[in-house]
Amino acid sequence: MSKTGAVDEQEIPFTSTKMPRRVVVLGSTGSIGTQTLDVIEQHPRELRCVGLSANTHVSALIEQAKRHGVQRVALASVPKNSVDNDAFEHYLCTAQTSLRSGKTLQYSHDNASDVPPSALERTNHERTNELSSCAYENTDDMPHYGMEALLALATCPEADIVVNALVGAVGLRVSEAALQAGKTLALANKESLVVGGDILMRLAHTTGTLLPIDSEHGAIFQCLVGEQHAEVARLWLTASGGPFLGKTLDQLRNITPAQALAHPTWHMGAKISIDSSTLMNKGLEVIEAHHLFNMPYDRISVVVQPQSLIHSMVEFVDGSVKAHMGTTDMRIPIQYALSYPQRWSAPVAPLDFTTLSQLTFKAPDTTTFPLLKLAYQAGKQGGVHPCVMNAANEVAVYAFLNGACAYTDIARCVETVLEHQIHYEQESIQQLEAIDTEARYRACSVLGIAFEQHQHMRGLA
Ligand code: MG
Repeated sequence: MSKTGAVDEQEIPFTSTKMPRRVVVLGSTGSIGTQTLDVIEQHPRELRCVGLSANTHVSALIEQAKRHGVQRVALASVPKNSVDNDAFEHYLCTAQTSLRSGKTLQYSHDNASDVPPSALERTNHERTNELSSCAYENTDDMPHYGMEALLALATCPEADIVVNALVGAVGLRVSEAALQAGKTLALANKESLVVGGDILMRLAHTTGTLLPIDSEHGAIFQCLVGEQHAEVARLWLTASGGPFLGKTLDQLRNITPAQALAHPTWHMGAKISIDSSTLMNKGLEVIEAHHLFNMPYDRISVVVQPQSLIHSMVEFVDGSVKAHMGTTDMRIPIQYALSYPQRWSAPVAPLDFTTLSQLTFKAPDTTTFPLLKLAYQAGKQGGVHPCVMNAANEVAVYAFLNGACAYTDIARCVETVLEHQIHYEQESIQQLEAIDTEARYRACSVLGIAFEQHQHMRGLA
C-alpha cells in the first residue's frame, strides 16, 4: 500500500517473486487462524507455514504443527493442565531435535495419518522418559510461552509474512514488532490499528508492509488497486447489521450471549461476534479504515447491507463507485493478503447472480446501537481515545460473555469510560499499554467487577 492509501504499481510490495512465501500464523487455532492454514494447504507451492501460536488450544496447535511440519510454536501462557503441558513440551523436544539435525519435520498435508502418535496417546511412563531424555538437549533459546514468544515468532528470520489473528489489544506489540522487523503484516487483529494506528502506520510506511485481512478493508484495498488517492471521494464500509438488526433498545436488554453469538452471515470468534452484534465491530473498522487508507472520518460512511454480498465500496470524485462482491468466505480476503499482488485460485463457490434475489441497503441505527457513533467520536478525537474505547469494550464484552453484565451495559461502559478521558497523542506502545490498563480498571469499576476477574475472563490469568 502506498503512503497515500491507494495503490500505485511502483509501490507494490513483494517485488521479490520468491516462493514459497513463508508464513507465521499467530492465533492459529481461532477462526481466522484455521482458515489461514486452509489457504496455506491449498497452495503448497506458493505458501509454507513456518510458525504457529495459540492461546489455550494446545492439542489443536500441536495437530496443526504436525500437519504443516512447523518447528516454531508458541503458547500465550504455560498450560495449567499437565496433559497439555507434557504434550507441548514433547512437541518442542521433537521440533528442536529436528532443528538441530537440520532436518525439517515431515510435511504431511497429503496423508495426515503419517503423523507420529501424539504425546496424548502415549503412556505417562513413556512421556516422562522422553521428556527427561530431551531436557538436557534443550539448546533452542527461543522462548515458547507468553508475549516474548509471540514477539520472537513475529520477528523470526524464517518468516516473510506474519498473520496477526490475535484477539484484542494484546496484538498491538506483535504488529509493531513484525513491521519493525521488515515483515509483511497480514492484519486480522483490527484492535492493533484502532489502538496504535498512528504508530503502526508510520512503521508501515517505513520498515514493513501492512495488508488488511478484514473483509471490508480487503475489499476497499482491492477497489483501490490502480487508483489515485486524490481521486477517492469516500469509503463505504458495509455492515450486515448483525443478528439484532431492526430491534429496539428495549428488546436488547435481555439478550443472552448465545443470541448475540449467532451471526447471520459470517461465522467468527466470540469477541468479534459480540462486537458485530453491537456495531462496535463496524466502529473499530471505521478507525481501521481511517488509518489504513489515510482517509478523514467525514469521508468514511457505513451502510447496512444485510446480505453481506458487497464487502465494501469506494466512491470516486467522478461519481463512479467500485464495489467488491463475493462469497462470504473469509478465506478469500485471507488469501488475497497472502497472494498480493497476484490472484490465485480458491476452492470457494463463486456467487451465482441469477440466484440472488435481493440486494438491500439501509442507514445504521446508531440510537439503538450507540457504539458505532461512539467509535466515530473517539476516532475523531484521536490520540489515546480509541485505545481507551477499545479497552473498555473488551472488558465489557468479556464480562457479558461470562454473564457478569447485561448486553446494554457494553455501550454504557464504553461511554462512561470515554467521558472523562483526557487527550494525549500516541507516543509509544508502552504509553498505550499503560493507558489501556488504566482504562480497563475504570471499565471494571463501572461494571462492578474486579480487574483480576477480567484478566481471568480474557484467559490471561
Ligand atoms: Mg470485518
